[in-house]
This record gives sequence, C-alpha cells and structure tokens, in this order.
Amino acid sequence: MAIVEEDLERLRASLVLSDVVQQHLALRRVGRNWVGLCPFHAERSGSFNVRDETGRYRCFGCGAAGDVFKFVQEIEHVDFVTAVESLASKAGIQLTYTTGESGDRTRQKRRQLVDAMAKAVEWYHDRLLNGPDARAARDYLRKRGLAGDTARTFKIGWAPDEWDALCRDLGVPADVLRETGLGFTNKAGRMQDSFRGRVLFPILTENGDPVAFGGRILPGSTDPAKYKNSSETAIYAKSKTLYGLNWAKGDIVAADQVIVCEGYTDVIGFHRAGVKRAVATCGTALTEDHVRLLKRYASNVVLAFDADAAGQGAAQRFYEWEERYQVRVSVARFPDGKDPGELSVSDPEGLRHAVDQALPFLGFRVNRVLNSRKLRSPEDRALVAGEAMAVVNEHQNPEVRKLYAGQVATHVGIPPADLVALAARRVKAPTVHIVPVWRIGVAENAEFVCIVMLL
Ligand SMILES: [Zn+2]
Repeated sequence: MAIVEEDLERLRASLVLSDVVQQHLALRRVGRNWVGLCPFHAERSGSFNVRDETGRYRCFGCGAAGDVFKFVQEIEHVDFVTAVESLASKAGIQLTYTTGESGDRTRQKRRQLVDAMAKAVEWYHDRLLNGPDARAARDYLRKRGLAGDTARTFKIGWAPDEWDALCRDLGVPADVLRETGLGFTNKAGRMQDSFRGRVLFPILTENGDPVAFGGRILPGSTDPAKYKNSSETAIYAKSKTLYGLNWAKGDIVAADQVIVCEGYTDVIGFHRAGVKRAVATCGTALTEDHVRLLKRYASNVVLAFDADAAGQGAAQRFYEWEERYQVRVSVARFPDGKDPGELSVSDPEGLRHAVDQALPFLGFRVNRVLNSRKLRSPEDRALVAGEAMAVVNEHQNPEVRKLYAGQVATHVGIPPADLVALAARRVKAPTVHIVPVWRIGVAENAEFVCIVMLL
C-alpha cells in the first residue's frame, strides 16, 4: 500500500512548512528563513532553520533536515504514511492509495513478514499458556516472576522441543518462514523450526510490529547456547532495534529518561517494579543508531548494566554521543551484583532506588578507580590519583574535568590545585614512578614535578 505521487505533491503544495513547524515550536523570521530552537536536540540558541520557498528545514546543531513529511514523522514518532495521513486530514485532502504491482512492493513485503511474525507470536504464546509440554517453562517463568499477566503482556512464548511443530502448523509459505527466520530448510530438504525447546520473548519495533524473537533455554537443558536470537532479516536490524521500546515509549517521554538493560527479563523486571521506561539491546552493545532512536524520546539515558566492563573504547563513544546528541548518560549500580530481573523479584524498592541514584558515566568510572585499592601508603595514593586522572582526562569538557579532579584530590589527599592543573591541560595521565629524591632537581616539566611531590 502506498499513496499516489500526485496526492503527495498536491498535499505538499497546500502546506506551508513554517505553519506546520509552528504547531510544535516558536519561530521568528530572519531574512528569507524562519529560525527557532531545534526540537530534536537541546540548545539555547536557535540553530533550527526553516525555508518556506524550498519547503525544507535544517538544524545546524544536530544535522536534522528534511521536508514537511519528514518533520511530522520525526516530531510525532510515526511512519511516513501515518505522517502523510495526519497532514492530509488536517488539510482536508482525500488520499488515493495504490495497490498491486504498482504499489510499494517493499512495504507489502514487510507487511507479509510482520503478519507471519504476529501469527508466530500468538502460536508460541498459546503453546506456553496451554501446551502440556510447556509445564517446565511455566514453572521456570513463575519462579522468576514472569508468569500470568506478565507473560500475557509481553506475549512470552514456548517453542516446543520438536523439529517442525511451528512450520507445520502456522500455515505460512516456506519462503516467508525462511525470510522471517522462523524456519530453515534442513539437509533433508524439509522446513525445520529455528527455535526449539526455548522460552521466547517477542521483539517488537517501536510501533509494535513483531520482527524477531529472543530465545532462552530452561535450566538443565543440554543446549550450550543459553540465548539464541533471531538472525537479521529484511524486517529486523539488531543495531536499530530496542526490546521493549513499544511498551516503554510513553513513560520514556513523560519522564524524559530511558533505562537501557542487557536482557529481556531485566526490562520486564523494571515494568513489574513500576518503572515502565526500560528497554534492552538485543544481543549487541549499544550502538549510535540506538542512541539516535532513543534521543527522539528522551535526553537522559540510564545504563542498567556494567557499562565499564565494555572498556575504555566504549567509554569514549558514550562521551561522544553525549556531546553529539545532547544526551546525558548515567549508570545505575545494583546491590549484591544482582541484575535488574532478579532484583525486581527480591527487592523492587532497591531497583527503583538504584535508578534514582544513578551516577553520571564519568563519575561512575572515577569512583570505580578510587575504590579499586586501599590507600595504605603515599605510593597507593599516587597510583590511584594517576589512574583516576587518566579516566578524568578522557572527558572533553575542561570544567567537568576540573571538578572531578577536585574530587580525586580530596579522596587521595593531594592538594586539589595540583590535579586541577593536570585536568585543565588534559595532559596524559602521569606515569607514577618512585623517583629518588635527588632527581627532583632534574625534573623539567610540571607533571613530573607534580608526581614527585605526590611521593
Ligand atoms: Zn537540532
């Protein structure tokens, strides 16, 4: 299904871009342009430019750009057709849709695959609720607080331990089974189910279209792979999909905050604890595409996993994204090394508290270094100061660096001015050597002198 081109042009011609934009933000006239505060990134001076002659907008801050349809898509979080329909109904323009071979084949194909996935979601879900073979799965979910209404809300399913139960029953052509990743052709040339003997979590797009599954074995299974996820298909890209966004987006917008987890059960745990703004990556690290997607909903990102374990490269990316997308990244710490899914059962209050107490990403990393060893000697203090300053100096903002340098100095008991000076110049972390006192005299640069002073 697509909208005929002439109608799109007629609609475009009847709309004045600045009128549409001004339903969402204030614009003022500057020469031939209209200028305002960009709705797609946080800013204090107007970088958002609208030109009615060309019918296009562009933000010089974040690079957002497009025409009237793109603007409505982005600001209302809807797809192209929905954006066009909403504008047409306000403008009183009747739309004609194309079907068949002249229509949008990609869109039709997508619909076909999504419909097959929706049937599979229902099939697996029914099997979980009613299948005699799903008893162990139901017991497992009940123990983890994932049964009953929770299972129904999140459409949790059970893939039976059979070769082709789904492929046989679903009534979907073999090519569609293959293209959705629900089944594959085995060596005997027959269709075989991709998921077998697993609890399944359907993965939906932000608009609620099912596109993939995450599957988990039951405890005691001989299958070596604890988790198995759908492979990428025409409708499923891991780096652009966040599990739970369809359920969470209302709460994310209301709170201007999104919680990013690593597991499906963590997301569900947050929901059960009344914190309905959690999403999870689907077996990948958080990508720039994810951040771009989330930025449309909120500007505060709370990581509910051990982000530091991903290493310094990951940290560098987070700082860049904070700058580029004007988001603030913080990290929640959970008591006793529990994950959010476990905590939602044993201590839901603790789970909520951990989110409220989330530390800025840099603060989290600095704290970890400061607490990494006991400060028994001046050498310990110097070592910790050096390591902590290396972390502090990863950050690009000098004011932020200086403030953390002050904290580090207080913790290790060094005059703050010394470390603040290092932070201001963002010198590489001083290497800590135990230098014989008689060599102080040959030290030529300030860092060297500083280190010697620490000792
Ligand atoms: Zn912008």
